[in-house]
Amino acid sequence: MHDLIVAGAGCAGCVAAERAAARGFRVLLVERSPAQSLGHPWVNGVERAVFEETGIPFPSGDETMPSPERSRFLSPSGAHYVEIASQPTVEVRMSHFARRLLAGALQAGAELRDETTVAAPLVEKGRVRGVVTEAGKELPARVVLDASGWEAAIRRGLPEESPIPREVDPGCLVTAWREQRRFAADEAQDVPVTLEIPPDVSLSRVGWRGGYSVLMLHWDSAERELDILAGFRASQEGETAGEFVERFLREKGLGGERVYGGGGLIPVRLSLDVLVDHGVLLAGDAACMVVPTHGSGVASALIAGGLAALTVSRCLRENDTSRQNLWEYACAYQRGRGSLTAYFDVTQAITDRFAPKEMEKLVGCLMTPGDVEAGLRVRPLSFRLAELPLRLRALRHPLFSARFAWMASAAMKLRKIYRGYPARYDAAALREWQQAVERARKRLLT
Ligand SMILES: Cc1cc2nc3c(=O)[nH]c(=O)nc-3n(C[C@H](O)[C@H](O)[C@H](O)COP(=O)(O)OP(=O)(O)OC[C@H]3O[C@@H](n4cnc5c(N)ncnc54)[C@H](O)[C@@H]3O)c2cc1C
Repeated sequence: MHDLIVAGAGCAGCVAAERAAARGFRVLLVERSPAQSLGHPWVNGVERAVFEETGIPFPSGDETMPSPERSRFLSPSGAHYVEIASQPTVEVRMSHFARRLLAGALQAGAELRDETTVAAPLVEKGRVRGVVTEAGKELPARVVLDASGWEAAIRRGLPEESPIPREVDPGCLVTAWREQRRFAADEAQDVPVTLEIPPDVSLSRVGWRGGYSVLMLHWDSAERELDILAGFRASQEGETAGEFVERFLREKGLGGERVYGGGGLIPVRLSLDVLVDHGVLLAGDAACMVVPTHGSGVASALIAGGLAALTVSRCLRENDTSRQNLWEYACAYQRGRGSLTAYFDVTQAITDRFAPKEMEKLVGCLMTPGDVEAGLRVRPLSFRLAELPLRLRALRHPLFSARFAWMASAAMKLRKIYRGYPARYDAAALREWQQAVERARKRLLT
């Protein structure tokens, strides 16, 4: 029997497997893809600071793609924008990065069963005791980590009485697609002109399709490559983001050849309230740990993977993998990273509720480069004296500014509530905490 089975060898899964194996535990990673094609085939912008925070070596070489010199965030009409000249994120080619993380886990002693799909948890007397594969094989373990991404193979099969919700509202799913497309020399000069991309600037249009939506374009003239990202609510539109990108470029009369890219779904919402139950933990997209502002989930997955391994190792040593003993992980995550991602739930409230006219005001009069950087670094907004003249623009719209200030204070309140996540599992304390979250979110939405 394995000590720990990890469902899914993505970012969260590989980090957890590596850290638990390095502490001497018998770890099995169960992954549906073949090892040689592991990892998402698209580029993700990952907060630079997370590598130092988690002790994971900074991506280099083929794992990365150069960042644009400047990033411009445009209002839905394109009339207003906020620009930053710093690079709070590093652009990571996920398939290269994931394979490095897997190699680290294997080197630490974890085993891999690839091309094996986890169908459900193995449940006995209300607790998880392993996993069942699609082929019907039972793989027992003392504890299981669900790191299988938004599809959450383990979570969906948990007993009904579990405090972990099996399903999440499908309305939170965002369809996203990112690719780099290379153009022949004779077509290349038309691309930035047709798409109106200035040199060395990446353009991100927020709310371009109403509600939660983003369209990012960047032209790399040296490589003759277009970098394009599209994301919008999956429930809102008939087409996927990938189909949109294909149609968008076709309608612009642009061909080119995809050199890297792909897409899928992202659960953009607050992380789940409960992250552990008897014999089981959730990490990464399986627990909806993305930053609601931009749907980024890699940093959260890396952090959660490390925290999960820490708690799992202690619980295995104590031979107690009950909900109560595993709770330490849930508390550490929610009070730390979870409180930051909860803070940025404010962005979702804004993009979902603000009319296009209000989004124009937000970008044109209220947002500053410091706010954009804070969002990308996943740090609370702060007041910089140097930005005072920019902030004074807001006086033109006193009522709108007051509404925004109210929402910002509600976001701070939400963060504070997450920092007070119950230290131990107690049904009544958890309910009280959930009610406090509900009240703060209501305030955010008024
Ligand atoms: C187009 C796009 C762009 C994105 N851009 C960014 C970005 O810029 N920055 C950022 O931080 N995030 C971004 N994200 C989100 C990011 O990719 C995810 O949040 C992150 O990969 C989550 O990591 P994870 O470890 O939880 O899951 P994943 O990385 O999804 O890993 C899950 C693993 O589980 C495996 N698996 C799934 N089901 C099963 C099963 N039943 N049995 C066995 N194995 C299984 C999968 O094959 C996969 O290897 C983007 C997502 C998309 C779709």
